[in-house]
Amino acid sequence: MAPDARQRRRITILGSTGSIGTSTLDVVRQLGGRERYEVVALTGNGNVELLAAQARDCGARLVVTADESRYADLKDALSGSGIAAAAGRSALLDAASGDADWVMAAIVGTAGLAPTLAAAKRGADIALANKECLVSAGDLFVQAVAQGGGRLIPVDSEHSAIFQALEDDQRHAVERIVLTASGGPFRTWSREQMAGVTADIARAHPNWSMGLKISIGSASMFNKALEMIEAKHLFDVRPDQIEVVVHPQSIIHSMVGYVDGSVLAQLGAPDMRTAIGYALTYPTRSALNVDRLDFAKLSRLDFEAPDEDRFPALRLARTALERGGLQGAIMNAAEEVAFHAFVGGRLGFLSMADIAEQVMDKLTHLPPASSMDDVFAADEEARRVAAGLIG
Ligand code: NDP
Repeated sequence: MAPDARQRRRITILGSTGSIGTSTLDVVRQLGGRERYEVVALTGNGNVELLAAQARDCGARLVVTADESRYADLKDALSGSGIAAAAGRSALLDAASGDADWVMAAIVGTAGLAPTLAAAKRGADIALANKECLVSAGDLFVQAVAQGGGRLIPVDSEHSAIFQALEDDQRHAVERIVLTASGGPFRTWSREQMAGVTADIARAHPNWSMGLKISIGSASMFNKALEMIEAKHLFDVRPDQIEVVVHPQSIIHSMVGYVDGSVLAQLGAPDMRTAIGYALTYPTRSALNVDRLDFAKLSRLDFEAPDEDRFPALRLARTALERGGLQGAIMNAAEEVAFHAFVGGRLGFLSMADIAEQVMDKLTHLPPASSMDDVFAADEEARRVAAGLIG
């Protein structure tokens, strides 16, 4: 029997060719594929071959590459499929504001902010993997989602865990949020050892398979720094209520501590498909083919305090949270520039935090954002200052 189009949920995946995007398509396939989901749009950047293959596989209506120079290749790869193709920044915004009910925000970095905002304003439910939206735009982004009328459902495994452990009618009783961190590949390394590492060494995460930016961010703990700021805006807690604990096995994905001393945690195998599936089927749960925890084999879970001297990104996140205003946007933009310089071999691993700190200190005078234009302006200014420092 042909699928009933009226019963299908309309979804769009921004960043479908990435690590989160491909896992999202796998979850969609597992949960019924075309029978249950109508894919309104898929978007990517340079990898148009994969983008076209994904679109053919799931029957997407529209495919967009942000990279205009790849438009002809995308058209070629889609020839005979009947799938519409478009390219460039405004096409990306159009795709994001299409008629999807649910949008996965999985573009990496600040490039994801404008399209995710467009989807939020149109009122789609936002499954948020792109933490940069909240780090840069904070409350303005949360307000945009609320005004649009959609729901904001976290996908980052830590924030999904907290979302799952939060009891809706007991929010007033939350004492603390405990973000777990694997500690990354350099958890036990000295600063001297870390000084000379290359991107190839830094990207090898012990537990998770992820995109390049977040893998390097896990090694430097900048990813955890961004997550601290993300948590503040998602769960409306004070900076002093956000804790980080290193948990090398990545089995407890995060925890919520309540005023009565209880701590609720969410556990699972380190596989993003669980958090993605939860975001897709929330508030219900559906069966997924992912590894199950075998507690007898696990035998132990370890915890240790994070070392902010070896991983100064955590200290910078606290500074950004305390200063408030645009410091999150500034830290994020400076870190993104420093990340590209590190990957390009123009900056040392430890210097990424130095650059972010210097840029944050130079731009303390910027007033709090009153509109998204202020956020984009601060982002641009921070990039300019960071690029100047790197040379
Ligand atoms: P990837 O690098 O694997 O994928 C990024 C996606 O964004 C790709 O589809 C890429 O297209 C697209 N893209 C890159 N640059 C641009 C641009 N300028 N304009 C439009 N699209 C662009 O990243 P991840 O999937 O690892 O991460 C995506 C987001 O999810 C990040 O914000 C990350 O922090 C967050 N996240 C990721 C987790 C993970 O396990 N990977 C876990 C939790 C959060 P193309 O492939 O064609 O270049």
